[in-house]
Amino acid sequence: MSEDFDKIIDEKGLSEKYRLKEGEFETSYERFPKKCGLCGGDVKFANNKAVHGNNDWKGYVYLCTKCGAYVGTYRPNSRVAIGVLSNKVMRNLRMDCHKLFDNMDFDGRTLDRRYSWIQRTLNIPRHQCRFGYFELDTLVNVREFLIECYEANGVKVPKLIED
Ligand SMILES: [Zn+2]
Repeated sequence: MSEDFDKIIDEKGLSEKYRLKEGEFETSYERFPKKCGLCGGDVKFANNKAVHGNNDWKGYVYLCTKCGAYVGTYRPNSRVAIGVLSNKVMRNLRMDCHKLFDNMDFDGRTLDRRYSWIQRTLNIPRHQCRFGYFELDTLVNVREFLIECYEANGVKVPKLIED
């Protein structure tokens, strides 16, 4: 199954179209971010009440003081960011990518193998192949690629947020 899948992708030239060139993949993924990757604003470490209001979900975020983009940290009470600072559009794109990616059972791969396939096909460094690490441009690119994989296989694209 997955061989056929790759063949379709190759024949349609999809992987070539979306493959990132050497040095093109950029991520400002910092474990302890100080500047926002979106607007360059200063980032502060804050209680997550700053973005989620008063609820029981304890934890901390890195929050851009200029545009309001944020990222959570590893729990419990870690200061290490789990990815890049994101705004609403990026969070939506990321949810779309996850939905597309998780439902690609027509390619015959396990999730693990699918991650390494994405990494190789799009030329993303292996240790940085996590949707949470992708900046806006990469998210748009990967989302488009995944949608075209569905279409190339004649599989209906699931309902997405950022249409
Ligand atoms: Zn910002």
